[in-house]
Amino acid sequence: MVDELFEVLEELFERRSKKKKKEREKEGKGGGGRDGVAAAPPVFCVDCGARNEGGARFCMECGSLLPSPGEELRCLSCNAQLPLKAKFCPRCGAKAAV
Ligand SMILES: [Zn+2]
Ligand SMILES: [Zn+2]
Repeated sequence: MVDELFEVLEELFERRSKKKKKEREKEGKGGGGRDGVAAAPPVFCVDCGARNEGGARFCMECGSLLPSPGEELRCLSCNAQLPLKAKFCPRCGAKAAV
């Protein structure tokens, strides 16, 4: 009976460590965590054109606020994605806001 109890405990422990391992693998493969920052595409400064690492919020050359993926400029008439410096939409010619 004691042996049985020991076996159950051992199984529980094994399961737990396996679960932990799986969670760790998930974090690593997900790419959405902190590891994803390194893999993010570089961000170019609107003011000085310096190349900053993906995920950077401010330019390391001039300190300007960098565009983040969620704040991209879009054409008001055709909804095309515009380069941040664009004054006119390259797709439909509409004047870009800002
Ligand atoms: Zn800059
Ligand atoms: Zn447009």
